[in-house]
Amino acid sequence: MSEATEKVVLITGASSGIGHAAALRLAAAGHRVVLGARRADRLAELAAKIRADGGSAEYRELDVTDLADFRAFVEFARQAHGRVDVVVNNAGVMPLSKLDAGLVAEWDRMIDVNIRGVLHGIAAALPLMREQGYGHFVNVASTGAHEVVPTAAVYCATKYAVRAISEGLRQESGGDVRVTVVSPGVTESELADSITDPEAAAGMVEYRRIALPAAAVAEAIAFAVAQPSEVDVNEVLLRPAATR
Ligand code: NDP
Repeated sequence: MSEATEKVVLITGASSGIGHAAALRLAAAGHRVVLGARRADRLAELAAKIRADGGSAEYRELDVTDLADFRAFVEFARQAHGRVDVVVNNAGVMPLSKLDAGLVAEWDRMIDVNIRGVLHGIAAALPLMREQGYGHFVNVASTGAHEVVPTAAVYCATKYAVRAISEGLRQESGGDVRVTVVSPGVTESELADSITDPEAAAGMVEYRRIALPAAAVAEAIAFAVAQPSEVDVNEVLLRPAATR
């Protein structure tokens, strides 16, 4: 079986920010998007908009920290379309704080969503991609996967992990399963809303003034998805031009 040009693309964290923008961009390119996140009401709204614009969109409530739920999400897509071409592992959280603050529950949350969530996506979809003989993971990391800054030690650790896992998967894939890491700098989204630490929240205010539109990151995702099967875009690193 060979890969289609119009792909079945699963997107986690499609209820806001980058995932939402990626869904619109990929659907506009003719791909069949399958949207996942916990806020199903938002997914319903987005799917309705895509369909009203002539695109193809399905959605299912998804918590990426739950492997059984991720497996059910992949099976939902397979039932709907008969295959899964691309999984965009985009869901993430970023409750920044200094390690001194000791917000261990928030560290655990980042590890659960940002690392385990991506691993669950791989565990859920890789067997089907092997069976199909093709597949593509687009894992959203961050410039924080390349450099660590104060208040972001744990967040950056999760994003370094996403790069490491992606590179390992790429090396093991044998070419039938492609792996792309998309690493954006600061981007307009709801991501910083999860920061509870006052010092870290204050630090984000200035930083967010130069943020990229989420559509710019969606464009990078769409570029990787659009490549023919012999081309594996390993990483796209993009930042606001005004970044120091
Ligand atoms: P948003 O907060 O706008 O989006 C995050 C998405 O993740 C939401 O749709 C949320 O949906 C989803 N999500 C969170 N927890 C779970 C969960 N347990 N299960 C399923 N979905 C979940 O932020 P962004 O769009 O910015 O974030 C997208 C990705 O981009 C993240 O991985 C982030 O780390 C990365 N990134 C963002 C940057 C930025 O500056 N914005 C820069 C670099 C990387 P719901 O709450 O409905 O479940």
